[in-house]
Amino acid sequence: MRQQTLAIIKPDAVQRGLVGAILQRLEEEGFRIRALKMVHLTKAQAEAFYIVHRERPFYDSLMTYMSSGPVVVLVLERDDAIDYLRQVMGATDPAKAAPNTIRRLYGTNIERNAIHGSDSPESAAFEIPFFFSRWEIFQSSGAPL
Ligand code: UDP
Ligand code: MG
Repeated sequence: MRQQTLAIIKPDAVQRGLVGAILQRLEEEGFRIRALKMVHLTKAQAEAFYIVHRERPFYDSLMTYMSSGPVVVLVLERDDAIDYLRQVMGATDPAKAAPNTIRRLYGTNIERNAIHGSDSPESAAFEIPFFFSRWEIFQSSGAPL
């Protein structure tokens, strides 16, 4: 099923000049980029995005990290986009991620793991409109949603 998911190239990957390599990999994996922008999140914006994790022990550190520099936010589309992106990303901890996954190739540690991807249709339905209006997705594709 054709589906959209939300990806974020995280501050460590942007800072280390890995945006191009990650975008190339995503396109090679068959994702169409339906919308893209660079933003520098405030801590309050990062907290709102990661609200489901607010009770987790790593939350404060994650908020500091996610607001530490610009990120690249993407709406990606392909068949089975949500689960497929999670496979291409690899496990949360880059050291445990399968060979050749984006996190294994480009992540630094369990926090600085290069990329975010929506983990379910419910997450994608929250995360895509968090960053992009219907108009932004529509005009970047030239085709109706
Ligand atoms: N994270 C962390 N320490 C942990 C687990 C997660 O710093 O022990 C960070 C990491 O950046 C991760 C994000 O919190 O990507 C969200 O965690 P989640 O469990 O949702 O992992 P993901 O869905 O990104 O694989
Ligand atoms: Mg998650």
